[in-house]
Amino acid sequence: MNCKYHNKEKAQWFCHQCDTSFCIDCCDINQREIAPRCLLCRTHLESYGVSDKVTPFWNKLSEFNKYPWQKNAYNFLLTYMGIAFVVGLITDFIPIMMIQLLLLLALYSIGIGYVFTVLTRGARGKLDAPSYDEALTFNSDSMTLKVIVLYCVLIGNGFIGGYIFGSGFILPYIAVVSFATPAMLIILAMEKHVSSAVNPARIASCVKAIGWPYLLLFGFSFLIDFSLEFAQSQLHFWLPQAVAYPMLFAALAYFYIVKFSMFGYVAFQYHNELGYGIDAENLLDTESDNALERRLLAKADVYIQEGRFEDAEEVLYDLAQDKRHTVKALERLVRLNIVRKNPVGAIKAANNYYQNPNLSGIGVDALRLYQEITAFEPRFKPMTAKARSVLVNQMKHKRYLEEVNKLSSVSEKMQSDVNIPWLMLSRARFESEVMNNDTTALAMINKLLSKYPRGSHQREAQQLRQVCQSMQQPIPSKS
Ligand SMILES: [Zn+2]
Ligand SMILES: [Zn+2]
Repeated sequence: MNCKYHNKEKAQWFCHQCDTSFCIDCCDINQREIAPRCLLCRTHLESYGVSDKVTPFWNKLSEFNKYPWQKNAYNFLLTYMGIAFVVGLITDFIPIMMIQLLLLLALYSIGIGYVFTVLTRGARGKLDAPSYDEALTFNSDSMTLKVIVLYCVLIGNGFIGGYIFGSGFILPYIAVVSFATPAMLIILAMEKHVSSAVNPARIASCVKAIGWPYLLLFGFSFLIDFSLEFAQSQLHFWLPQAVAYPMLFAALAYFYIVKFSMFGYVAFQYHNELGYGIDAENLLDTESDNALERRLLAKADVYIQEGRFEDAEEVLYDLAQDKRHTVKALERLVRLNIVRKNPVGAIKAANNYYQNPNLSGIGVDALRLYQEITAFEPRFKPMTAKARSVLVNQMKHKRYLEEVNKLSSVSEKMQSDVNIPWLMLSRARFESEVMNNDTTALAMINKLLSKYPRGSHQREAQQLRQVCQSMQQPIPSKS
């Protein structure tokens, strides 16, 4: 079942009142509440507790096998092979132990970063492979460190146990550890603490939460390791070292991608039972910078589709509060009001949009939005000279002449705007560069400089005057 409003997203919550399913992004999650609330009627939502509703993982094996053949994963594997090849070459030529170790560590770290991204993504029900870049932003270094610490703890425990109980301890210990490995990796990926990943009580609760299917999970995982071992021995046996290196790492990455996509899906299927409710999902989501933006835009979608435009506006103005998202939110508000045929709302949002101090950085978008607004409400003009100057600077064609004139006419109210010289300068530049009318441009600059002789615009204005003068007169011959 997918979200009613985002039909590509899996529904995670259900409202009995409204008989509607929501994805994780379009419900109200409050820190101290047991369950999120419905956006439409404010009642608590019910989790889909998906384990009995989604396809169980043992029926998805072919999908896990196909996972590495998705474009993103495949590209990653190719890149990874390339890196392994280079590392292989370097280690062949520089026989310094320390460097070899560091390179190997780097190679493992890239792989670990990728497969853990595969897992956490799968835990959100997404079986599309992450791109290489997405995986790199997933702080792979600290994950590598955690994996190393995890292995050190496991090996250390083995040694201590062997020391205390004698060599009879080792074999059962290895058996128990390999049985617990899927659980440990899932816990490590989801909770990101080595201490919980090696905590026997947590491992036991994880195995119990999954129930008998854990045996299947362990079986599949064991089979994958077995094939990996086999592949490695074959490669070692048949191929020269230099070629074997990239092949070995590609095989390693390939099988681990399969395995971790399965672990991720298991975490998703049992997330309710494992206790990875909204809290864990919240933690995951706050990792990415635009999570807030995505969530608020998702909510706005719900309200828009329900025809509750005031609520949608409120959400978007909320989003606009955050400086990083102001531009996008206001743009949406303008478009939303244009669709609603609400000129007051559109102009209110547009005025906010054109007050952006960094408008010159998004000049192209600003002009596009301006054209959309004027198509709907021809009388609209931004209220600041700076915004108008940005727009005029973007208008680089003769067909804009009328618009440029409209934007350059300054009303009584704007007379005290400190950026008027800049607007006049943009107007003059349009005349010179687009209309090729240097005489008019020159007149405009002279007017500008006599009216506003001082200010930061002065230098650019004088430069433009020189250009216009030299264009106007034939270059004086040396005599
Ligand atoms: Zn949704
Ligand atoms: Zn509801």
